[in-house]
Amino acid sequence: MSTRPMISRSDRSGASRRAASAAPRSAAPVRCIARAIPVDVPPAQPAPPFRLASRQFHPESTVVRAGGVSIGAGLVVIAGPCSVESRRQILETARRVKAAGANMLRGGAYKPRTSPYDFQGLGAKALAWLAEAREETGLPIVTEVLSQEDVERVAEVADLIQVGARNMQNTALLRKLARTKKPVLLKRGASATIAEWLLAAEYLLAGGNPNVVLCERGIRTFETATRNTLDLAGVALVKQLSHLPVLVDPSHATGLSALVPAASRAAVAVGADGLLIEVHRRPAEAWSDGAQSLDPTAFAALLAEVRAWPQRSNARV
Ligand code: PEP
Ligand code: MN
Repeated sequence: MSTRPMISRSDRSGASRRAASAAPRSAAPVRCIARAIPVDVPPAQPAPPFRLASRQFHPESTVVRAGGVSIGAGLVVIAGPCSVESRRQILETARRVKAAGANMLRGGAYKPRTSPYDFQGLGAKALAWLAEAREETGLPIVTEVLSQEDVERVAEVADLIQVGARNMQNTALLRKLARTKKPVLLKRGASATIAEWLLAAEYLLAGGNPNVVLCERGIRTFETATRNTLDLAGVALVKQLSHLPVLVDPSHATGLSALVPAASRAAVAVGADGLLIEVHRRPAEAWSDGAQSLDPTAFAALLAEVRAWPQRSNARV
């Protein structure tokens, strides 16, 4: 609330009456401030620094087409293991998640691990098995690229190239991915603010790639009971600030398979355009992220539930 001075010609204050009587008759009426009336002044809207990602300059929600799937026009579900471990594992998982109603298959060939001693992914071999899984099931592929030198190799197989949380601000990688024009799934860095996340998206957009999908995967907070903290309000806010589709990864956001259904429901309720869920045929035997992976049966049950909900209009943010 602020006050704006109102200029009055009615001369009702004592001071203005005295001034009027002292003035020659021919003088023009004295203008003075009679009273201050509080009015609501809308705050000026500064242009956001992420101009191309901003809804202010692009009010329509963007729909990104990746491998024949429209992301941003209804709930899209991407599912599969954290890591591709064998040909048999990825083919079997692809069949199971497809039967449950997933739209795309995920699987890591190049893994960004916190420890250099942990499994780092099977690389090119895993990419070939992912391509085979797509061939058999028709599910488009989502897989991560870690470094600039692998961009071409990964882009040959991926329908949606994942940039993981640890690489969100790898600007050289983002610039190179912009030039491919291939759809990119940009995960939020674990300690990135929303502005930093949208500015990372801006690197892709400004570099000439309009096919950007955002993914909230939990942020680092003081809480250690869950692996990360799912920023649900952040998802709702980014849907308002940006026209880009926003997915939620409830697996990395919670770190616990028992919390994945609740986090998925919440994500859909706040307006996420889709879910990225880790599914392993035997979570206890997974080479990475088993504790947060659903088995195919639990995944199918979750999907049946959220798919049964009334479709949210994409226009509403
Ligand atoms: C992953 O998707 O397996 C992954 C490593 O994700 P994030 O970058 O969100 O940690
Ligand atoms: Mn993982």
